Amino acid sequence: MNEIVSQLESLNLNLIVSSRKKKDGSESYILIDDDYFEYKTAYTSNSGKITWRCNSTEHPNCKGAVSTNGMNKPITKIREHDHQNSIK
Ligand SMILES: [Zn+2]
Repeated sequence: MNEIVSQLESLNLNLIVSSRKKKDGSESYILIDDDYFEYKTAYTSNSGKITWRCNSTEHPNCKGAVSTNGMNKPITKIREHDHQNSIK
């Protein structure tokens, strides 16, 4: 049982609940990936795959994007960032 719990914990994404809610009132999340880039939700498909877009305020045109299967790891890189991460 403990093994399953620790396995689930390692699959948890590093998420922050955004102070801004979506238009429909649901929570929106900020994702922090293993390289400390921040992302906001861009698109959720019917299959549960979530596409995340770079959330950098200094680089608003950054094309950096990743996808996840629901709110779980692994994080799949779609496009690289055109800048360094801002969290030191
Ligand atoms: Zn970026």
